[in-house]
Amino acid sequence: MNRISTDIVVVGGGVIGLAIALRLRADGREVVVVEPNEPGSGASYGNAGTVADYAIIPVGTPAVLRNFLSLVLSPDSPLAVRRSALPTLLPWLARFAYESLPHRYRENAGRIAELVSDASPAWTEFAAEIGASQFLSAKGCLYLYETRKAFRAAGADIALRRNYGVSQELLSADDVARLEPRLTRFEGGLFFPKAINLSDPGEVMHLLTSAVRRAGVEFVQASVDSIVRERSGLRIVAAACELRARTVVIAAGAHSRKLAASLGDPVRLDTERGYHVEYDMPELPIERPVCPTAHGFYFCPMRGRLRVAGLVELGGLTAPKNLRLTQALVRNARRYFPELGEPSRSWLGFRPSMPDSVPIIRPSRGGKDVILAFGHGHIGLTLAPRTAQLVSAMLAR
Ligand SMILES: Cc1cc2nc3c(=O)[nH]c(=O)nc-3n(C[C@H](O)[C@H](O)[C@H](O)COP(=O)(O)OP(=O)(O)OC[C@H]3O[C@@H](n4cnc5c(N)ncnc54)[C@H](O)[C@@H]3O)c2cc1C
Repeated sequence: MNRISTDIVVVGGGVIGLAIALRLRADGREVVVVEPNEPGSGASYGNAGTVADYAIIPVGTPAVLRNFLSLVLSPDSPLAVRRSALPTLLPWLARFAYESLPHRYRENAGRIAELVSDASPAWTEFAAEIGASQFLSAKGCLYLYETRKAFRAAGADIALRRNYGVSQELLSADDVARLEPRLTRFEGGLFFPKAINLSDPGEVMHLLTSAVRRAGVEFVQASVDSIVRERSGLRIVAAACELRARTVVIAAGAHSRKLAASLGDPVRLDTERGYHVEYDMPELPIERPVCPTAHGFYFCPMRGRLRVAGLVELGGLTAPKNLRLTQALVRNARRYFPELGEPSRSWLGFRPSMPDSVPIIRPSRGGKDVILAFGHGHIGLTLAPRTAQLVSAMLAR
Protein backbone atom coordinates (compact mmCIF):
# COMPACT_ATOMS: atom_id res chain seq x y z
CA MET A 1 0.00 0.00 0.00
CA ASN A 2 1.44 3.35 -1.11
CA ARG A 3 0.96 6.04 1.59
CA ILE A 4 1.27 9.76 0.87
CA SER A 5 0.82 12.78 3.14
CA THR A 6 0.28 16.18 1.62
CA ASP A 7 -1.32 19.56 2.14
CA ILE A 8 -3.99 19.40 -0.60
CA VAL A 9 -5.37 16.51 -2.66
CA VAL A 10 -7.23 17.37 -5.85
CA VAL A 11 -9.54 14.52 -6.90
CA GLY A 12 -9.85 14.52 -10.70
CA GLY A 13 -7.42 15.66 -13.37
CA GLY A 14 -9.76 17.27 -15.89
CA VAL A 15 -9.35 20.88 -16.95
CA ILE A 16 -10.91 22.00 -13.66
CA GLY A 17 -8.73 19.88 -11.35
CA LEU A 18 -5.57 20.64 -13.34
CA ALA A 19 -6.18 24.40 -13.38
CA ILE A 20 -6.84 24.33 -9.63
CA ALA A 21 -3.69 22.27 -8.95
CA LEU A 22 -1.54 24.69 -10.96
CA ARG A 23 -2.95 27.70 -9.19
CA LEU A 24 -2.63 26.23 -5.68
CA ARG A 25 0.96 25.23 -6.43
CA ALA A 26 1.65 28.82 -7.51
CA ASP A 27 0.23 29.85 -4.12
CA GLY A 28 2.98 27.76 -2.55
CA ARG A 29 0.83 24.79 -1.52
CA GLU A 30 1.87 21.15 -1.70
CA VAL A 31 -0.57 19.46 -4.07
CA VAL A 32 -1.27 15.90 -5.25
CA VAL A 33 -3.71 15.17 -8.09
CA VAL A 34 -5.43 11.77 -8.04
CA GLU A 35 -6.68 10.73 -11.48
CA PRO A 36 -7.24 7.19 -12.81
CA ASN A 37 -6.87 7.98 -16.51
CA GLU A 38 -4.66 10.17 -18.65
CA PRO A 39 -5.18 13.69 -17.22
CA GLY A 40 -7.47 15.82 -19.38
CA SER A 41 -8.91 12.83 -21.25
CA GLY A 42 -12.51 13.16 -19.98
CA ALA A 43 -15.01 15.84 -21.02
CA SER A 44 -12.09 18.27 -21.16
CA TYR A 45 -10.69 16.47 -24.21
CA GLY A 46 -13.68 16.21 -26.53
CA ASN A 47 -15.48 19.51 -26.15
CA ALA A 48 -16.16 22.20 -28.74
CA GLY A 49 -13.15 24.26 -27.65
CA THR A 50 -15.00 27.54 -27.23
CA VAL A 51 -14.07 29.93 -24.45
CA ALA A 52 -17.66 31.00 -24.36
CA ASP A 53 -17.77 34.32 -22.54
CA TYR A 54 -21.22 34.81 -24.08
CA ALA A 55 -22.75 31.49 -22.93
CA ILE A 56 -24.81 32.84 -20.06
CA ILE A 57 -28.13 31.23 -21.03
CA PRO A 58 -28.74 28.17 -18.87
CA VAL A 59 -29.84 24.91 -20.52
CA GLY A 60 -33.17 25.18 -18.70
CA THR A 61 -35.20 28.06 -20.14
CA PRO A 62 -38.96 28.72 -20.35
CA ALA A 63 -38.82 27.75 -24.05
CA VAL A 64 -37.08 24.43 -23.31
CA LEU A 65 -39.61 23.72 -20.57
CA ARG A 66 -42.55 24.49 -22.90
CA ASN A 67 -41.17 22.29 -25.67
CA PHE A 68 -39.55 19.60 -23.52
CA LEU A 69 -41.81 16.72 -24.59
CA SER A 70 -41.68 17.48 -28.30
CA LEU A 71 -37.89 17.93 -28.07
CA VAL A 72 -37.46 14.57 -26.35
CA LEU A 73 -39.80 12.77 -28.75
CA SER A 74 -38.40 14.20 -32.00
CA PRO A 75 -35.78 11.89 -33.59
CA ASP A 76 -33.80 14.86 -34.91
CA SER A 77 -33.80 16.92 -31.73
CA PRO A 78 -30.59 18.02 -29.97
CA LEU A 79 -32.09 16.72 -26.68
CA ALA A 80 -32.60 13.03 -25.91
CA VAL A 81 -33.48 11.09 -22.76
CA ARG A 82 -32.61 7.40 -22.28
CA ARG A 83 -35.76 5.74 -20.96
CA SER A 84 -33.79 3.29 -18.81
CA ALA A 85 -32.29 6.21 -16.87
CA LEU A 86 -35.61 7.95 -16.19
CA PRO A 87 -36.21 6.64 -12.64
CA THR A 88 -32.80 7.86 -11.41
CA LEU A 89 -33.10 11.08 -13.39
CA LEU A 90 -36.46 12.16 -11.97
CA PRO A 91 -35.20 14.31 -9.04
CA TRP A 92 -32.75 16.08 -11.39
CA LEU A 93 -35.47 16.60 -14.01
CA ALA A 94 -37.92 17.96 -11.43
CA ARG A 95 -35.35 20.52 -10.31
CA PHE A 96 -34.46 21.28 -13.93
CA ALA A 97 -38.13 22.06 -14.63
CA TYR A 98 -38.23 24.44 -11.66
CA GLU A 99 -34.95 26.11 -12.71
CA SER A 100 -36.43 26.66 -16.19
CA LEU A 101 -39.21 28.93 -14.88
CA PRO A 102 -38.87 32.54 -16.08
CA HIS A 103 -37.66 34.05 -12.79
CA ARG A 104 -35.16 31.21 -12.17
CA TYR A 105 -33.82 31.27 -15.74
CA ARG A 106 -33.13 35.00 -15.48
CA GLU A 107 -31.46 34.65 -12.10
CA ASN A 108 -29.35 31.68 -13.23
CA ALA A 109 -28.25 33.61 -16.33
CA GLY A 110 -27.10 36.43 -14.04
CA ARG A 111 -25.03 34.04 -11.92
CA ILE A 112 -23.43 32.50 -15.01
CA ALA A 113 -22.78 35.96 -16.49
CA GLU A 114 -20.87 36.94 -13.39
CA LEU A 115 -18.65 33.87 -13.79
CA VAL A 116 -17.93 34.03 -17.53
CA SER A 117 -17.53 37.79 -17.96
CA ASP A 118 -13.71 37.82 -18.02
CA ALA A 119 -13.22 34.33 -19.48
CA SER A 120 -11.42 35.43 -22.67
CA PRO A 121 -8.67 37.53 -21.02
CA ALA A 122 -8.36 34.94 -18.24
CA TRP A 123 -7.83 32.14 -20.80
CA THR A 124 -5.38 34.23 -22.82
CA GLU A 125 -3.26 34.67 -19.70
CA PHE A 126 -3.70 31.02 -18.68
CA ALA A 127 -2.70 29.75 -22.15
CA ALA A 128 0.47 31.88 -22.03
CA GLU A 129 1.29 30.47 -18.59
CA ILE A 130 1.04 26.84 -19.80
CA GLY A 131 2.70 27.46 -23.19
CA ALA A 132 -0.49 26.97 -25.22
CA SER A 133 -0.98 30.41 -26.78
CA GLN A 134 -0.48 28.96 -30.27
CA PHE A 135 -3.71 26.99 -29.82
CA LEU A 136 -5.85 30.10 -29.18
CA SER A 137 -7.76 31.77 -31.97
CA ALA A 138 -9.58 35.07 -31.48
CA LYS A 139 -12.06 35.23 -34.35
CA GLY A 140 -15.25 35.23 -32.29
CA CYS A 141 -18.05 32.76 -32.53
CA LEU A 142 -21.37 32.51 -34.42
CA TYR A 143 -24.90 31.37 -33.59
CA LEU A 144 -26.93 30.93 -36.78
CA TYR A 145 -30.69 30.78 -37.44
CA GLU A 146 -32.23 29.15 -40.51
CA THR A 147 -35.61 30.87 -40.32
CA ARG A 148 -36.84 34.32 -39.33
CA LYS A 149 -39.17 32.63 -36.86
CA ALA A 150 -36.25 30.93 -35.11
CA PHE A 151 -34.29 34.22 -35.04
CA ARG A 152 -37.31 36.02 -33.52
CA ALA A 153 -37.72 33.24 -30.96
CA ALA A 154 -34.16 33.92 -29.77
CA GLY A 155 -35.23 37.45 -28.79
CA ALA A 156 -35.63 36.74 -25.06
CA ASP A 157 -32.12 35.26 -24.81
CA ILE A 158 -30.65 38.13 -26.84
CA ALA A 159 -32.30 40.65 -24.51
CA LEU A 160 -31.01 38.80 -21.44
CA ARG A 161 -27.45 38.78 -22.80
CA ARG A 162 -27.73 42.49 -23.54
CA ASN A 163 -29.00 43.04 -20.02
CA TYR A 164 -25.90 41.32 -18.62
CA GLY A 165 -23.47 43.21 -20.86
CA VAL A 166 -22.51 40.36 -23.22
CA SER A 167 -20.92 41.60 -26.48
CA GLN A 168 -23.13 40.37 -29.32
CA GLU A 169 -23.85 41.68 -32.81
CA LEU A 170 -27.02 40.89 -34.77
CA LEU A 171 -26.20 39.71 -38.30
CA SER A 172 -28.22 39.64 -41.53
CA ALA A 173 -27.90 36.73 -43.97
CA ASP A 174 -25.38 38.82 -45.97
CA ASP A 175 -23.33 39.56 -42.85
CA VAL A 176 -23.19 35.83 -42.11
CA ALA A 177 -22.03 35.06 -45.65
CA ARG A 178 -19.34 37.77 -45.40
CA LEU A 179 -17.94 36.18 -42.22
CA GLU A 180 -18.35 32.57 -43.36
CA PRO A 181 -18.81 32.39 -47.15
CA ARG A 182 -19.66 28.66 -47.13
CA LEU A 183 -22.69 29.24 -44.91
CA THR A 184 -25.47 30.59 -47.10
CA ARG A 185 -28.67 28.96 -45.87
CA PHE A 186 -29.19 31.14 -42.78
CA GLU A 187 -31.64 34.01 -42.33
CA GLY A 188 -29.51 35.64 -39.70
CA GLY A 189 -27.20 35.17 -36.79
CA LEU A 190 -25.40 36.47 -33.76
CA PHE A 191 -21.72 37.22 -33.62
CA PHE A 192 -19.87 37.10 -30.31
CA PRO A 193 -16.74 39.07 -31.17
CA LYS A 194 -14.82 38.61 -27.91
CA ALA A 195 -15.08 34.81 -27.79
CA ILE A 196 -11.91 32.85 -28.35
CA ASN A 197 -11.49 29.18 -29.13
CA LEU A 198 -8.95 26.40 -28.73
CA SER A 199 -7.92 24.72 -31.96
CA ASP A 200 -7.04 21.49 -30.15
CA PRO A 201 -8.39 20.98 -26.61
CA GLY A 202 -6.60 17.61 -26.33
CA GLU A 203 -3.19 19.15 -27.07
CA VAL A 204 -3.92 21.99 -24.67
CA MET A 205 -4.71 19.40 -21.98
CA HIS A 206 -1.30 17.78 -22.63
CA LEU A 207 0.43 21.14 -22.24
CA LEU A 208 -1.58 21.91 -19.11
CA THR A 209 -0.66 18.53 -17.58
CA SER A 210 3.04 19.12 -18.36
CA ALA A 211 2.86 22.59 -16.78
CA VAL A 212 1.25 21.13 -13.66
CA ARG A 213 3.98 18.45 -13.40
CA ARG A 214 6.74 21.03 -13.99
CA ALA A 215 5.30 23.18 -11.21
CA GLY A 216 5.94 20.28 -8.81
CA VAL A 217 2.51 18.73 -8.44
CA GLU A 218 2.59 14.98 -7.92
CA PHE A 219 0.13 12.74 -9.80
CA VAL A 220 -1.24 9.50 -8.40
CA GLN A 221 -2.87 7.27 -10.99
CA ALA A 222 -5.88 5.87 -9.15
CA SER A 223 -9.59 6.30 -8.69
CA VAL A 224 -10.64 7.64 -5.29
CA ASP A 225 -13.04 5.18 -3.65
CA SER A 226 -13.81 7.14 -0.51
CA ILE A 227 -12.76 10.09 1.60
CA VAL A 228 -12.97 9.82 5.36
CA ARG A 229 -12.86 12.74 7.78
CA GLU A 230 -10.70 11.88 10.82
CA ARG A 231 -9.46 13.89 13.78
CA SER A 232 -6.05 14.34 12.18
CA GLY A 233 -7.35 15.34 8.74
CA LEU A 234 -8.77 13.68 5.65
CA ARG A 235 -7.98 10.12 4.56
CA ILE A 236 -8.36 9.55 0.83
CA VAL A 237 -8.69 5.90 -0.10
CA ALA A 238 -7.88 4.67 -3.60
CA ALA A 239 -6.89 1.25 -4.88
CA ALA A 240 -3.44 0.31 -3.49
CA CYS A 241 -2.95 3.82 -2.19
CA GLU A 242 -3.91 5.89 0.83
CA LEU A 243 -3.38 9.64 1.06
CA ARG A 244 -3.70 12.01 3.97
CA ALA A 245 -4.37 15.70 3.44
CA ARG A 246 -5.53 18.78 5.29
CA THR A 247 -7.76 19.77 2.38
CA VAL A 248 -9.42 17.91 -0.47
CA VAL A 249 -10.75 19.54 -3.63
CA ILE A 250 -13.38 17.38 -5.34
CA ALA A 251 -13.06 18.07 -9.08
CA ALA A 252 -14.07 14.72 -10.54
CA GLY A 253 -16.47 16.26 -13.06
CA ALA A 254 -19.63 14.23 -13.64
CA HIS A 255 -18.35 11.60 -11.18
CA SER A 256 -18.27 13.93 -8.18
CA ARG A 257 -21.71 13.37 -6.68
CA LYS A 258 -20.99 10.25 -4.63
CA LEU A 259 -17.81 11.69 -3.07
CA ALA A 260 -19.50 15.00 -2.18
CA ALA A 261 -22.48 13.17 -0.65
CA SER A 262 -20.24 10.89 1.43
CA LEU A 263 -18.76 14.02 3.06
CA GLY A 264 -22.11 15.48 4.01
CA ASP A 265 -23.08 17.48 0.93
CA PRO A 266 -25.64 15.76 -1.31
CA VAL A 267 -25.84 17.75 -4.54
CA ARG A 268 -28.11 17.31 -7.56
CA LEU A 269 -25.31 16.63 -10.02
CA ASP A 270 -26.02 14.48 -13.07
CA THR A 271 -24.60 14.27 -16.53
CA GLU A 272 -25.57 15.66 -19.91
CA ARG A 273 -23.89 13.22 -22.24
CA GLY A 274 -22.37 14.99 -25.26
CA TYR A 275 -21.02 13.70 -28.56
CA HIS A 276 -18.56 14.63 -31.25
CA VAL A 277 -17.62 13.36 -34.68
CA GLU A 278 -14.47 14.50 -36.47
CA TYR A 279 -13.46 14.75 -40.11
CA ASP A 280 -9.76 14.84 -40.91
CA MET A 281 -9.28 17.56 -43.52
CA PRO A 282 -6.33 19.79 -44.35
CA GLU A 283 -8.51 22.72 -45.54
CA LEU A 284 -11.31 23.73 -43.20
CA PRO A 285 -14.60 25.17 -44.51
CA ILE A 286 -15.02 27.67 -41.63
CA GLU A 287 -12.86 30.18 -39.76
CA ARG A 288 -14.47 30.10 -36.32
CA PRO A 289 -16.83 27.97 -34.20
CA VAL A 290 -20.31 28.07 -35.70
CA CYS A 291 -23.48 26.81 -34.02
CA PRO A 292 -26.52 26.13 -36.22
CA THR A 293 -28.79 26.63 -33.24
CA ALA A 294 -31.64 24.37 -34.41
CA HIS A 295 -29.37 21.33 -34.13
CA GLY A 296 -27.59 21.99 -30.82
CA PHE A 297 -24.03 21.42 -32.02
CA TYR A 298 -21.01 23.44 -33.03
CA PHE A 299 -18.88 23.12 -36.12
CA CYS A 300 -15.43 23.59 -34.61
CA PRO A 301 -12.36 24.33 -36.71
CA MET A 302 -9.56 22.24 -35.16
CA ARG A 303 -6.00 21.60 -36.25
CA GLY A 304 -6.22 19.36 -39.32
CA ARG A 305 -9.84 18.43 -38.70
CA LEU A 306 -13.40 19.65 -38.43
CA ARG A 307 -15.08 18.65 -35.16
CA VAL A 308 -18.87 18.59 -34.90
CA ALA A 309 -19.62 18.65 -31.16
CA GLY A 310 -22.70 18.97 -29.01
CA LEU A 311 -26.13 17.41 -28.32
CA VAL A 312 -27.53 16.63 -24.89
CA GLU A 313 -28.47 13.10 -23.89
CA LEU A 314 -29.76 12.56 -20.37
CA GLY A 315 -28.84 8.98 -19.61
CA GLY A 316 -26.25 8.52 -16.87
CA LEU A 317 -22.61 7.55 -16.82
CA THR A 318 -22.63 3.88 -17.79
CA ALA A 319 -24.72 3.39 -20.95
CA PRO A 320 -22.78 2.97 -24.21
CA LYS A 321 -22.66 5.49 -27.07
CA ASN A 322 -26.03 6.10 -28.68
CA LEU A 323 -25.40 5.50 -32.38
CA ARG A 324 -28.64 7.27 -33.29
CA LEU A 325 -27.14 10.47 -31.91
CA THR A 326 -23.79 10.20 -33.72
CA GLN A 327 -25.75 9.48 -36.90
CA ALA A 328 -27.87 12.60 -36.26
CA LEU A 329 -24.65 14.64 -35.95
CA VAL A 330 -23.38 13.24 -39.26
CA ARG A 331 -26.70 13.76 -41.05
CA ASN A 332 -27.14 17.32 -39.83
CA ALA A 333 -23.49 18.24 -40.51
CA ARG A 334 -24.04 17.19 -44.14
CA ARG A 335 -26.98 19.59 -44.46
CA TYR A 336 -24.44 22.40 -44.40
CA PHE A 337 -21.38 20.67 -45.86
CA PRO A 338 -22.70 17.96 -48.26
CA GLU A 339 -19.15 16.93 -49.16
CA LEU A 340 -18.60 15.43 -45.70
CA GLY A 341 -18.28 11.66 -45.96
CA GLU A 342 -17.98 9.25 -43.05
CA PRO A 343 -16.37 10.76 -39.94
CA SER A 344 -12.82 9.76 -39.08
CA ARG A 345 -13.81 9.13 -35.43
CA SER A 346 -16.57 9.68 -32.89
CA TRP A 347 -16.61 10.35 -29.16
CA LEU A 348 -18.97 10.41 -26.17
CA GLY A 349 -18.24 12.48 -23.05
CA PHE A 350 -19.92 13.39 -19.80
CA ARG A 351 -20.71 16.99 -18.97
CA PRO A 352 -20.99 17.46 -15.21
CA SER A 353 -24.37 19.17 -15.04
CA MET A 354 -26.43 20.91 -12.41
CA PRO A 355 -30.17 21.50 -13.01
CA ASP A 356 -29.61 25.29 -12.96
CA SER A 357 -26.46 25.16 -15.17
CA VAL A 358 -24.53 26.98 -12.42
CA PRO A 359 -21.36 25.18 -11.27
CA ILE A 360 -20.69 24.41 -7.63
CA ILE A 361 -17.51 26.16 -6.48
CA ARG A 362 -17.61 26.42 -2.72
CA PRO A 363 -16.64 24.74 0.55
CA SER A 364 -18.61 21.59 1.33
CA ARG A 365 -21.55 21.96 3.70
CA GLY A 366 -20.04 19.01 5.54
CA GLY A 367 -16.87 20.95 6.45
CA LYS A 368 -14.55 23.64 5.09
CA ASP A 369 -11.68 21.17 4.66
CA VAL A 370 -13.41 19.94 1.49
CA ILE A 371 -13.88 22.21 -1.51
CA LEU A 372 -16.37 21.32 -4.24
CA ALA A 373 -15.44 22.37 -7.79
CA PHE A 374 -17.63 20.63 -10.33
CA GLY A 375 -20.89 20.90 -12.23
CA HIS A 376 -19.58 23.18 -14.97
CA GLY A 377 -21.91 21.68 -17.58
CA HIS A 378 -21.41 23.30 -20.98
CA ILE A 379 -18.84 25.87 -19.85
CA GLY A 380 -16.16 23.98 -17.92
CA LEU A 381 -13.39 24.75 -20.37
CA THR A 382 -14.40 28.42 -20.34
CA LEU A 383 -14.45 28.57 -16.55
CA ALA A 384 -11.30 26.62 -15.64
CA PRO A 385 -9.06 29.66 -14.92
CA ARG A 386 -11.84 31.44 -13.03
CA THR A 387 -12.65 28.35 -10.96
CA ALA A 388 -8.98 28.03 -10.02
CA GLN A 389 -8.91 31.68 -8.90
CA LEU A 390 -12.02 31.20 -6.77
CA VAL A 391 -10.68 28.04 -5.11
CA SER A 392 -7.33 29.73 -4.47
CA ALA A 393 -9.13 32.64 -2.78
CA MET A 394 -11.13 30.21 -0.62
CA LEU A 395 -7.97 28.50 0.57
CA ALA A 396 -5.87 31.64 1.02
CA ARG A 397 -4.28 31.57 4.44
C1 LIG B 1 -19.73 17.73 -26.57
C2 LIG B 1 -19.26 18.74 -25.55
C3 LIG B 1 -18.92 20.02 -25.95
C4 LIG B 1 -18.48 20.95 -25.01
N1 LIG B 1 -18.09 22.19 -25.44
C5 LIG B 1 -17.61 23.08 -24.55
C6 LIG B 1 -17.13 24.33 -24.98
O1 LIG B 1 -17.08 24.64 -26.16
N2 LIG B 1 -16.70 25.22 -24.04
C7 LIG B 1 -16.70 24.91 -22.70
O2 LIG B 1 -16.33 25.76 -21.90
N3 LIG B 1 -17.10 23.71 -22.27
C8 LIG B 1 -17.55 22.79 -23.16
N4 LIG B 1 -17.97 21.56 -22.72
C9 LIG B 1 -17.99 21.28 -21.29
C10 LIG B 1 -16.61 20.98 -20.73
O3 LIG B 1 -15.94 20.05 -21.56
C11 LIG B 1 -16.76 20.43 -19.32
O4 LIG B 1 -17.56 21.28 -18.54
C12 LIG B 1 -15.40 20.33 -18.64
O5 LIG B 1 -14.51 19.57 -19.43
C13 LIG B 1 -15.53 19.71 -17.26
O6 LIG B 1 -14.24 19.57 -16.74
P1 LIG B 1 -13.99 18.69 -15.47
O7 LIG B 1 -12.55 18.77 -15.18
O8 LIG B 1 -14.96 19.05 -14.41
O9 LIG B 1 -14.43 17.21 -15.94
P2 LIG B 1 -13.61 16.10 -16.76
O10 LIG B 1 -12.80 16.67 -17.85
O11 LIG B 1 -14.58 15.03 -17.10
O12 LIG B 1 -12.58 15.58 -15.68
C14 LIG B 1 -13.00 14.87 -14.53
C15 LIG B 1 -11.87 13.90 -14.19
O13 LIG B 1 -12.17 13.27 -12.95
C16 LIG B 1 -11.70 11.95 -13.03
N5 LIG B 1 -12.39 11.14 -12.03
C17 LIG B 1 -13.65 10.68 -12.06
N6 LIG B 1 -13.92 9.96 -10.94
C18 LIG B 1 -12.77 9.99 -10.19
C19 LIG B 1 -12.41 9.41 -8.93
N7 LIG B 1 -13.28 8.68 -8.21
N8 LIG B 1 -11.16 9.62 -8.48
C20 LIG B 1 -10.27 10.37 -9.18
N9 LIG B 1 -10.57 10.95 -10.38
C21 LIG B 1 -11.81 10.74 -10.88
C22 LIG B 1 -12.02 11.51 -14.45
O14 LIG B 1 -11.19 10.41 -14.86
C23 LIG B 1 -11.75 12.78 -15.23
O15 LIG B 1 -10.46 12.81 -15.81
C24 LIG B 1 -18.40 20.59 -23.64
C25 LIG B 1 -18.70 19.29 -23.25
C26 LIG B 1 -19.10 18.36 -24.18
C27 LIG B 1 -19.39 16.95 -23.73
